[in-house]
Amino acid sequence: MNAPIELFRFCPRCGKALPGGKRANFIECGACGLLYFLNAVVAAGAIIVDDRGRALFLRRAKDPGKGKLGLPGGFADIGETAEENLRREVREEINIELASLEFLCSSPNPYEYRGVTYPVLDLFFTARAKSLDAFKVLEEAEGYCWLAPDEVCLDDIAFPSVRAAVSRWLEKQRVRAG
Ligand SMILES: [Zn+2]
Repeated sequence: MNAPIELFRFCPRCGKALPGGKRANFIECGACGLLYFLNAVVAAGAIIVDDRGRALFLRRAKDPGKGKLGLPGGFADIGETAEENLRREVREEINIELASLEFLCSSPNPYEYRGVTYPVLDLFFTARAKSLDAFKVLEEAEGYCWLAPDEVCLDDIAFPSVRAAVSRWLEKQRVRAG
């Protein structure tokens, strides 16, 4: 797997060959002086909780993590806030409008796709839906389930970052219950 920055073999501005080898998060062109950084991209995910305290999980239809449980969410577009990103993704994926959003935690999520490992920073929020009447899985999932805290099995969850967020949520439920 390549980090995206390692795929640049030529300067994207002047076209000169760049030195090979391991790179951190930038390329520097000795010919034209270009210094180009590629840092983490942002994604947001929602733990949507219903009136019975159950959280919504989507079963992933595609790799990465095919067949495992994930959360609604996705990559932020340029210029969006994380909250706008999450509201848009949730609308696109499951056709519901989110009411309140509360920041839960963040976690790095190296995301492998077509031979490239993207450095992603996932931001997680807990959320309530304005209404679940229009709930419908529209894309990227082959099913869904609502799980109470004691029904969640972390081994079924697709990504370490999502597991970290769900663990955090479960801890908060235990604190609240205890
Ligand atoms: Zn250059």
